[in-house]
Amino acid sequence: MAVEAARGLGRETYTYSVPPELEVVPGHRVTVPFGRRTTYGFVVSVGTPDPDVEVKPILTAGAEPMLLPHQIDLARLVADHYWLPLIECLRAMLPPRVRSSGSSGSDASSRQHRHSRLVDLATAPAGALDPVELTAEQQAALEVIMSNPVTLLHGVIGSGKTEVYLAAAQRALAEGLRVLILVPEISLTPQLVTRVRSRLLAPIAVLHSQVTELERAQQWWRVRRGEASVVLGSRSAVFAPIPRLGLICLDEEGSSAYKQDRTPRYEAGWVARRLAALTGARLVAGSATPSVVAYHDAQRGETALARITHRVKGADAPVVLVDMRDEVPAGNRSPLSRKLVKATERALENEEQVILYLNRRGMSTFVMCRDCGKSVQCLGCSVSLVQHAEIDGLVCHYCGYSTAMPSLCPHCGSRNIRGLGMGTQRLEGIVKKLWPAARVLRLDSDAARGPDSYFEIWETFSERRADILVGTQLVTRGLDLPAVTCVGVVDADLPLHFPDYRSAENTFSLVSQVAGRAGRGGRPSTVVVQTSNPDHYSLRSAAAGDYASFYADELPARKAFSFPPYAELVVLTRTDADDARAAASAREGADALAAGLLEEGIEGIRVMGPAPAFIHRLRGEYRWQITLKGHGLERARHLAPRGKGWSYDVDPVT
Ligand SMILES: [Zn+2]
Ligand SMILES: [Zn+2]
Repeated sequence: MAVEAARGLGRETYTYSVPPELEVVPGHRVTVPFGRRTTYGFVVSVGTPDPDVEVKPILTAGAEPMLLPHQIDLARLVADHYWLPLIECLRAMLPPRVRSSGSSGSDASSRQHRHSRLVDLATAPAGALDPVELTAEQQAALEVIMSNPVTLLHGVIGSGKTEVYLAAAQRALAEGLRVLILVPEISLTPQLVTRVRSRLLAPIAVLHSQVTELERAQQWWRVRRGEASVVLGSRSAVFAPIPRLGLICLDEEGSSAYKQDRTPRYEAGWVARRLAALTGARLVAGSATPSVVAYHDAQRGETALARITHRVKGADAPVVLVDMRDEVPAGNRSPLSRKLVKATERALENEEQVILYLNRRGMSTFVMCRDCGKSVQCLGCSVSLVQHAEIDGLVCHYCGYSTAMPSLCPHCGSRNIRGLGMGTQRLEGIVKKLWPAARVLRLDSDAARGPDSYFEIWETFSERRADILVGTQLVTRGLDLPAVTCVGVVDADLPLHFPDYRSAENTFSLVSQVAGRAGRGGRPSTVVVQTSNPDHYSLRSAAAGDYASFYADELPARKAFSFPPYAELVVLTRTDADDARAAASAREGADALAAGLLEEGIEGIRVMGPAPAFIHRLRGEYRWQITLKGHGLERARHLAPRGKGWSYDVDPVT
């Protein structure tokens, strides 16, 4: 048994006896005595050999197991890979209400008056959409998906990947199998729910963080009882209890939205691949900009590869790379280049729409030379150093290398080096001042608070009740924005110099996605990308729409600096209200780890750091981290420092 009350204790499972009047199998939720109290837990195996000590009996058990047999196996795999306690993985499989009450959820609906829009749409009667004729490329992709266990679907933006998923889903449904469709949280729009519902004409369940807890419990029970043939959800839906699962569609494979950044830290794409293997379901992972790791797997033949190289309709807008180093000498000190200002003006004159995109991450945390466009980097890790006020200098948050803040650019000697980053509110202010008559809308995490406010902002824009959208989020799946003819990436240096080994990959993906947003209505459109690094391969290949050339340039860099797919990473973080104590404890942990590896003769694992975490101070606490790099990192798990203040992040995203 994995026991709720034992969370945080070192032991994984406990043994209980089954009284003769109860019948339990793995997956049952049961109540048990634990110490002096009563708690609940989940049966993970039965028929355990007599432990030779007195065991207490299970008190009560649900009528049927809550989790399916394959889910127990999945929880074990997730626990092993992500260095997690088994109970945390089992908890993640149940919505809070189901987990704590164990109720069957059948009594709940009468008390609920207002439903979230997503759930309303999922259960509303749907009219059938006209059948869609797949293009030859889409049809060929479908055949690859149907004849392989795992397929990477590399399809350009606008190539109709969703229609391919839905066609594959129709085939699975026709065989009496169920379908799981995973999308990044902000792509799960009312429009997508309606489309899936009317295309498949099957009962669907929606699992999303923006529905109420009660609805989550109700939706979960519909899935568990087999009442939903299609499960459409964000990240955590990968843990849904789907019987007879035949197909998993993982849309926008590699999106950071699939990584959960709190306990349990997992990546839904990794879990989906294991889920497919355990259940025998086919998996299709689709993207216009596949992650380097996924593409590498496909190149090596570990997964099948299907390509769609043409848009269904429309054409890509040309991408203009603007060199920001030319602006200041020309007398322009604004963060908007002359070209972007001109393109915006033209769009406004034609009564068309404009999107100005700003990266939300990394405000003034790393420095770049305004003259040569290079950032100050760690020579060992090839990532940008992070500015830390506490040490009055720059630190590599992977390996801990630190240096004083240089007064001259180490690459070209210029004095013109500065922190990067600008807030959306400041940009909004600049835009309003430049175009006082334009209706400006801001979409960032502050503006999009509350369940439906995100959709409302998007709808305001798509219904053309605003002219310029200043935003940090860029998803328009299911929303056609034919009036958008100008898209600007205001600061492409930000993602490019972000202190992450995937900064080039993220930049390529960002610029490609942005380019795909303009020109959908067939009107002449412009995409302006502002950078001080117009020659960087990720920007050049994104502007050319050439994934293969990006991949060919990126892979050797990964190899040279030992990053995935050539090595695995685990980050161990020590958090403490006291900075010095966090640092000292992280130092002890790193030393003990290194000594343990040496003593046990474990080779191929490097211990790096300790170093201040990228976000050193969070919610009043300080964070220091140790990075493990190499192969078979699970061999170091038993040596990892544990206890209060420690957390692990396997395959970290930053
Ligand atoms: Zn320079
Ligand atoms: Zn480093």
